[in-house]
Amino acid sequence: QAKGAGRSNYRVFTEDMLQKANNKLMIEQDIGAAIEQRQLSLFLQPIVALPDAKLKGFEALIRWFHPERGLIMPGDFIPDIENSEAIIQVGNYVLEEGGAILSRLRKQGWDDLYLAVNLSAKHYMDPGLIPLVQHILSKYDLPPESLLLEVTEESVIEHVELAMASMTSLKQLGVRIAIDDFGTGYSSLSYLKQLPFDVLKIDRCFTSEVLNESTDSHIVSTVIDLAHNLGRTVVAEGIEVQEQGDYLARLGCELAQGYLYAKPLNEERVMTILNTIGEDRIWPVEHAPQFG
Ligand code: C2E
Ligand code: MG
Ligand code: MG
Ligand code: MG
Repeated sequence: QAKGAGRSNYRVFTEDMLQKANNKLMIEQDIGAAIEQRQLSLFLQPIVALPDAKLKGFEALIRWFHPERGLIMPGDFIPDIENSEAIIQVGNYVLEEGGAILSRLRKQGWDDLYLAVNLSAKHYMDPGLIPLVQHILSKYDLPPESLLLEVTEESVIEHVELAMASMTSLKQLGVRIAIDDFGTGYSSLSYLKQLPFDVLKIDRCFTSEVLNESTDSHIVSTVIDLAHNLGRTVVAEGIEVQEQGDYLARLGCELAQGYLYAKPLNEERVMTILNTIGEDRIWPVEHAPQFG
């Protein structure tokens, strides 16, 4: 029986592997067509200032509306193409479309909001990145500081030298840089001091338990103080309830993002909500669930 079980385990394993490999291949092959046929789209999640939820900007989060497979979330295709050329194509699309969104926002009078865009490791170390960013800034006539490029802590740590060089060139263009998912990549404090970033985003795995776990609350408080000592701004990711936002505000965290304020929304929805926002710029938190 043990032998049989072993064999069937083995088969399950290989079929799973085969399926993963096929999936990966299919994604790599489909992505070019997906871009051409406009199946990729950027959703926008608001980023607000604490404590009163004044709107400061949005993070662009990619969605793939596949004609046969329906909606594919980034977690189900980005990791599969992260090491292939396809990620460069996706990244170029995201930057180009991000620039277009910023430009549409500015035309509606929202000229001091920023847009955060996620970059994969392979893409932000690609020699084509700097000229592309430069091109987009001038094509849409954007102030460089309105573009915030997010790189994960993990990707920076994996390639410190290259990441540092690339971040330095990007800073020279005037764009801002955020370290994303901070706390999950185990960077050493000496790197953190040297890296030319502007914003530190504390990962949701720490903010989600900040009210219940004293360890997490100590970590979050320490990270906020550390970032401030280095002159950086902090965003708390994954804020889902008011008490979390209030708590983070008391710890001195400037900015927050999460389902409490809104889930990622399509651009049309964002424009509709923007039309309801007054001079005070306060994002309508009380309506957050219905905006999901
Ligand atoms: P991320 O950059 O850390 O983005 C935050 C993720 O957390 C988003 O998931 C967002 O929808 C989700 N989130 C925000 N607030 C909450 C909350 O309060 N609760 C919970 N449970 N989740 C929240 P999403 O859109 O599925 O994206 C997942 C990851 O995929 C992103 O993590 C980012 O690493 C990657 N990604 C998304 N768009 C792009 C892109 O255009 N390019 C690249 N290279 N990666 C992308
Ligand atoms: Mg991000
Ligand atoms: Mg993140
Ligand atoms: Mg993440």
